[in-house]
Amino acid sequence: MDYDLFVIGAGSGGVRAARIASDLGVNVAIAEDLYLGGTCVNVGCVPKKLYVYASEFRNFFEDSRPFGWSNESVAFDWRKLRENKSKEIVRLNGIYKNLLENSGADIINGRAKLRDSNTIEVKGKLYSSERILIATGGWPFIPDFPGSEYAITSNDIFDLEEFPKRLLVIGGGYIAVEFAGIFNGLGSKVTQIYRGSLFLRGFDNDVRGHSAKEIIKTGVDLRFETNIVKIEKYSDGYHAYLDDETVVIVDAVLCATGRKPNLLDLGLENVNVGKDVDDKLLVDRDFCTDEATIFALGDVIKGPELTPVALAQGMQFARKEFGNLETKLEYGFIPTAVFCQPPIGTVGFTEEEAEKEFDSLRIYKSSFRPMKNTVSGRKQETFIKLIVENRTDKVVGVHMVGPDAGEIIQGIAIALNAGATKSIFDKTIGIHPTTAEEFVTMRTVWSES
Ligand code: FAD
Repeated sequence: MDYDLFVIGAGSGGVRAARIASDLGVNVAIAEDLYLGGTCVNVGCVPKKLYVYASEFRNFFEDSRPFGWSNESVAFDWRKLRENKSKEIVRLNGIYKNLLENSGADIINGRAKLRDSNTIEVKGKLYSSERILIATGGWPFIPDFPGSEYAITSNDIFDLEEFPKRLLVIGGGYIAVEFAGIFNGLGSKVTQIYRGSLFLRGFDNDVRGHSAKEIIKTGVDLRFETNIVKIEKYSDGYHAYLDDETVVIVDAVLCATGRKPNLLDLGLENVNVGKDVDDKLLVDRDFCTDEATIFALGDVIKGPELTPVALAQGMQFARKEFGNLETKLEYGFIPTAVFCQPPIGTVGFTEEEAEKEFDSLRIYKSSFRPMKNTVSGRKQETFIKLIVENRTDKVVGVHMVGPDAGEIIQGIAIALNAGATKSIFDKTIGIHPTTAEEFVTMRTVWSES
């Protein structure tokens, strides 16, 4: 065999698996088609968060005035942001290259195709490997409707030549909500449509409702139960015909309508690897597919589509296969954030899930104006919620919508993973004055079941 491990896809999961395996002394190759670092580094978490930072400045400038600052003439330069974002990504691509090269893995540029259970083809050259890891991630999906060819995806939006002064976002998942917030903050007139009655399916219902209310206050024209009918191109922009009988004229239409596993031309027909109804590859707890030599992890399998999850899976896979080290990934209390404005942070059960899982619950909720807004005058409110299992007093869900939610919930996730009870939350002294201290001062039960 040419290699002990051949990884397809140098994204979050693939790079981590390749590096750990290499460090454990095995002979590794990693094939990458587009960009080192995968979705997260190139068209996902990293550029998105940089754009979120950029979009937040507008509110900062406005809020600073009642605090005594004057800054009347502020202006935004899209090209500068785009170029500086791209420079940072090139830097990160270099870091990934160095990490892989220093670990001893061979980087093979090109699209990999499975030929059989131990053979991979890249640009006409065949490689044999004892084990193969599929870590090809996902790809945005655009539904078919008249004019859908004019729509762009999250892969395209970061590098638009011209700043879209008017933007239509189609979709109600976290990516749609984040981009609506980014472009609204940067100064676009944003319309967001979602076919369901409330966006952010899968999040706690109170969080969904509070976020919708707050996002509308920021100026996004948010329309639920609204579908796209067709897009037509005219000299004054794209005319998006909606089923609420209106036409929205915009400079760009972003379709953030979901992602599908990236399996295009992977050669799955040549091997015995099963898929589920969503085209996700079927694997066991050790990421092994139906083919004993072929493994898969990250966004290409069922589970939370998050970089830290793909990283943890890559680490677990390599340590188990090549180091005989068992580290089972716990999926129970994986925290996550939505970087909309205001942001959402969440860990554990939603109230709807907890009602199904546990016999009896106590719910604590609070909604309040953050201290900064008392002087700035901004109308935005923060929302926090604790879900406690009555029998054990364990906190099983924590949700927040408000500034720094992601930063705050990361710490709370440690407490939940350690099995913290509500009385431990109550015993903890707060940091005053902060928003986070609310989590340890909630004494009044909102509802009990
Ligand atoms: P990927 O990172 O997608 O890597 C797969 C790689 O495989 C790609 O580089 C691809 O080019 C390559 N490839 C595919 N097929 C082949 C082939 N046949 N041959 C060779 N190479 C191939 N997650 C978070 O945790 N936090 C966030 O804030 C966040 N924000 C996001 C924002 C956006 C807009 C998007 C789209 C995603 C975001 N994610 C976020 C999700 C995160 O990016 C993914 O969960 C993560 O990248 C998955 O890692 P992966 O290794 O499975 O796949």
